[in-house]
Amino acid sequence: MYVVSIDADKCEGCGECIDACPAGILGMVDGKAEVTGAETDCMGCETCVVTCPNEACTLQEL
Ligand code: SF4
Ligand code: SF4
Repeated sequence: MYVVSIDADKCEGCGECIDACPAGILGMVDGKAEVTGAETDCMGCETCVVTCPNEACTLQEL
C-alpha cells in the first residue's frame, strides 16, 4: 500500500493536490492539506506529489 504524507510546514493551502487527487482522499483542515479520506484508497499515482508547488507531498510504498 501507499502512504502519502503532507508536510504542514511546506503546505501553503493552495488546494491543488485536493482537486487533483483521483481518489478524493485529501482535504483542507485549518488551511492545510491533510489526508481526510481513507488512506488505504491511495493508489500511489503521485499526482499530489507532482502537483504541489511546494514539494509538501511525499509518497511512501509499504
Ligand atoms: S498519490 Fe494519488 S491517490 Fe494518493 S493521495 Fe496522492 S493524488 Fe491521491
Ligand atoms: S498542493 Fe501542496 S501547498 Fe497546495 S494544498 Fe496541497 S500540499 Fe498544500
